[in-house]
Amino acid sequence: MKKSEFQNLQSPKGMHDILPQDQEWWDKVRKELQSITEYYHYRRIDPTLLERAEVFEKTLGETTDVVEKQMFVFTSRSGDRLALRPEATASIVRSYLQHGLSHLGQPLKLFYMGPMFRKEQPQAGRFRQFHQVGFEILGGDDDPVYDAQIILTMHRLLERLKIKDISLKVNSIGCRICRPNYRKKLIEYYKNPSFKLCRDCKRRLRENPLRLLDCKNETCQPYKAEAPISLDSLCVYCSKHLKNTLEFLDELHIPYQIDHQLVRGLDYYSRTVFEFFTEAAGPDGQKYDFALGGGGRYDYLIEMFGGRPAGAVGGALGVERVLEVMKALRVNVSSRSKKTVFFIHIGETAKKKSLSLIESLREEGVTVIESLGKDSLGAQLRAADKEGSDYALIFGQKEAFEESVIIRDLRNSVQETVPLKKMIKEVKKRLK
Ligand code: AMP
Repeated sequence: MKKSEFQNLQSPKGMHDILPQDQEWWDKVRKELQSITEYYHYRRIDPTLLERAEVFEKTLGETTDVVEKQMFVFTSRSGDRLALRPEATASIVRSYLQHGLSHLGQPLKLFYMGPMFRKEQPQAGRFRQFHQVGFEILGGDDDPVYDAQIILTMHRLLERLKIKDISLKVNSIGCRICRPNYRKKLIEYYKNPSFKLCRDCKRRLRENPLRLLDCKNETCQPYKAEAPISLDSLCVYCSKHLKNTLEFLDELHIPYQIDHQLVRGLDYYSRTVFEFFTEAAGPDGQKYDFALGGGGRYDYLIEMFGGRPAGAVGGALGVERVLEVMKALRVNVSSRSKKTVFFIHIGETAKKKSLSLIESLREEGVTVIESLGKDSLGAQLRAADKEGSDYALIFGQKEAFEESVIIRDLRNSVQETVPLKKMIKEVKKRLK
């Protein structure tokens, strides 16, 4: 293959490899996720990456951007229409019903971490393959304590990842009873003939009026600012639900702002919707205008799939966005606080014995790095330097013959020869 041909084989637009040098950032997220989910008793679920397209079309809403414009859909050879998942909640509910998870203790607290796919125009913080960590509490009733628990879990995870100046926006978009009233009010307001709505909003007005409030177009901003707010249309039950959710947040000292324009794009949400941002400044002092995460209550989704009606609430954080902020804030993610030893061999006889010597150290919990494929001393010392190891174990012909090994402190080049029998003890002493 010619170099120019390879140019056409680069990763697809908006999709990025996660390279070895980035893994410690991802490890930090995985580690904190693991610890927080153990603490709050969430169980992991990994639904399939491909779903039948209807799983999303029938639940997210046919007129939502995600379904209408952003899904990667293809038809398999056997004629199935499949989609790469644009989000995980619908998949989780599909899996929950398919495998009868409603028979486990309810509500079920689940979490996931994995890639999502949306055909968006790539830009800062917006990719076509991106990752989410998400949490769901489903299958119980619609107690606002669960809304607060989801928000708490996500807030605590952001805190553990050292995201500063977290801000939380909350709104309620009502239920089946009160939302139609609100829709009506919005339509009446937006039908004003003097309004010069953007093309998308004209369509939204016909198809999905709540999403008028999602519009980012400059020309529509003044209309949005004056639009009727959902809180004025909430039924008594939804008002109380929101009030109780906010009271839990107050008790937890989690600050929030009510955002009347927060509706979130998907059809399956009801009542609580929320989004997390950071007020922290980026490397050039700029503000991040993207959400780090979001979520809401989706009490009708299980029913949409034919299940028995049950309450559910969840949310997801965008890992790439969180990592971008963590990097700008220079969060320390290094897990290499543990001292390491670099094993160096010289000569064939020594090399033969190397693997088993290294194994004996590993069995004792010593982190050993090696470069056994390199035979020159210089190359191995350079590798040890690159790894930033604290000690080198040098094992040459003479040492193999005498059954000894040299332990060299790489920070000050002081070295000592010790009998092989004492190697583990001597190494451990130094690594303390
Ligand atoms: P959503 O439910 O669509 O609001 O997604 C939840 C979170 O996932 C967002 O707040 C973002 O942090 C992240 N996210 C959504 N879409 C993208 C994207 N195209 N690229 C990167 N992150 C995204």
